[in-house]
Amino acid sequence: MKKLDKKYLLQTYSKKFINFKYGKNAMLYDSNKIGYVDFTSGIGVSSVGHGNKRLAKTICKQAFKAIHTSNLYSILPQIKLAKKISKLSKMNMATFFTNSGAEANEAAIKIARKYGQTKFNSKRYKIITLENSFHGRTITTLKATGQSSMHKRDFAPYPDGFFYNSTIKDIYDSIDKETVAVIIELIQGEGGVEQFDKKEIKKLSKYLKNNKILLIVDEVQTGIYRTGEFLACNFYGIEPDIITLAKGLGGGVPIGAVLTKHKDIFSPGDHGSTFGGNYLSTSASIEVLKILKNLKKSQKLEKTINYFDKKLEQIMSEFEGLFIKKVGVGLIKGLRVKNEQIQAKIVDKAFENKLLILKAGKNTIRFLPPLTITREEIDKGFEIFLKTLREI
Ligand code: PLP
Repeated sequence: MKKLDKKYLLQTYSKKFINFKYGKNAMLYDSNKIGYVDFTSGIGVSSVGHGNKRLAKTICKQAFKAIHTSNLYSILPQIKLAKKISKLSKMNMATFFTNSGAEANEAAIKIARKYGQTKFNSKRYKIITLENSFHGRTITTLKATGQSSMHKRDFAPYPDGFFYNSTIKDIYDSIDKETVAVIIELIQGEGGVEQFDKKEIKKLSKYLKNNKILLIVDEVQTGIYRTGEFLACNFYGIEPDIITLAKGLGGGVPIGAVLTKHKDIFSPGDHGSTFGGNYLSTSASIEVLKILKNLKKSQKLEKTINYFDKKLEQIMSEFEGLFIKKVGVGLIKGLRVKNEQIQAKIVDKAFENKLLILKAGKNTIRFLPPLTITREEIDKGFEIFLKTLREI
């Protein structure tokens, strides 16, 4: 497999060469039917687990009817999904559907730029972003990503108009007459499960509102009940101007979304997508949201979060010397270690022992299990994690 992979695929990932054949909730099985506990859910995507029957049936049913017609004709599941998102978010937002997180952020940036060009004489265009953020891999979202190591010269030139701050407090001083928006993740996922202070975020949100500067919250990783609330914005108690979603929204079916309360900025021709919001992805996403809404309502999600947290606490106290602190909210959690070498050792050894976990930033072990993970699966995963830690 490795040989064929290298021959036929562009080598953009340093990956493990394993052939997962099928999955069952938080378990993945390779071609020898050997099971792996999945604490990654495909980097926060498989929100309702692997092989989810309800989701699979919905996808099949829709595929037999129509998969795609284009956005030249209205698509009922797309409208229903947008309504559902608006209701669950408890915000009066209109949505544009994309195929990925980066595309959702691209659309958010376009909305902000047009808002800046059309609403102010000073032609606002500057976008403030935070260091260690991650907003995608297209040329523009790479530039919006506040990690200089990702702005490789190989891909230059990049678009102008992005300015970086290291903390929320620094943002105020960077704002000038040409600033149109601030883009943040409330919990930086790729950056190390770095969670911002609620009070600071609320203060920033209020300040930006008063100064008519848009707040864009990138919820590609934190959205869709990952924090225990539908959106991290709900958890933080803020109502930004623009929110972007992807990952968990389709349970594995590619879909992203940009939501905004500024419904009049885009007019026909301003933006589009061939695939975005087609019958298949929006029908799948409606089913995902139904499943997850029930999970939340029945308090199962809360119980899972508490149980997972308890397990992390136990690990922390048993391996005090190894872990610096526990970070994150809900089921986006991390354990900080001393350095990159220890981080890599733990992730690799866990994989050898059949547990999938993630790196984040330079020294965080990240946990993003399916939201439907069971107690038994959590127990099994932590059993392997414990064994792994004892071995290293
Ligand atoms: N924004 C955040 C916060 C992310 O975590 C990611 C992906 O990891 C993206 C944007 C990019 O999403 P995608 O890979 O779907 O383009």
